[in-house]
Amino acid sequence: MQNKFTETFVCGKYVVCAILTMYLISVHQQNEESNIFSWLVHTIAVPIWLVLIICTLLLLTTLICIFALKKQSTPHYQRYKKDRLFGAVWRWRWQDNTMISLWCYCPECDDELLYNEDKGRSLYGQVYKTHFICANCDNQVKATVPGGNKEDALIAVEREIYRKVRNGQFKQAIKSF
Ligand SMILES: [Zn+2]
Repeated sequence: MQNKFTETFVCGKYVVCAILTMYLISVHQQNEESNIFSWLVHTIAVPIWLVLIICTLLLLTTLICIFALKKQSTPHYQRYKKDRLFGAVWRWRWQDNTMISLWCYCPECDDELLYNEDKGRSLYGQVYKTHFICANCDNQVKATVPGGNKEDALIAVEREIYRKVRNGQFKQAIKSF
């Protein structure tokens, strides 16, 4: 999308430059002087609308270039801000190289999920797992992260996200969303 905008504005700039060049050549042809560079020192009347269009296009092109350069300087993995893990949709933001605001959302209605820590018993002692519940979908459990309470669940999801960043699988996740 960004590339299309950039291409459109760059093309627009070239079109205006071409119109201006043709305009200057036509002025030159009307002139009797034979020196090929003489037109460079002529003053011409340029319509204000043309000046405004040129200035606007130059300004927009400059802003787009600055934006594109800034975007290029951001590491690719920092475009990875959403994934489907443990049955829920997880979203987060990057602050420098650190993941922040990690939380999960319902894959059906996109409501923010609630959590319920489940402490059970097994042959090996107490076992925790954390259920993530959607209040908007009749309190259905949408995701369950085994092995701990809510904090442990968030750490498990973080570890999975960092694993995907390290092995490059995050690129697939960016494409799928
Ligand atoms: Zn839901």
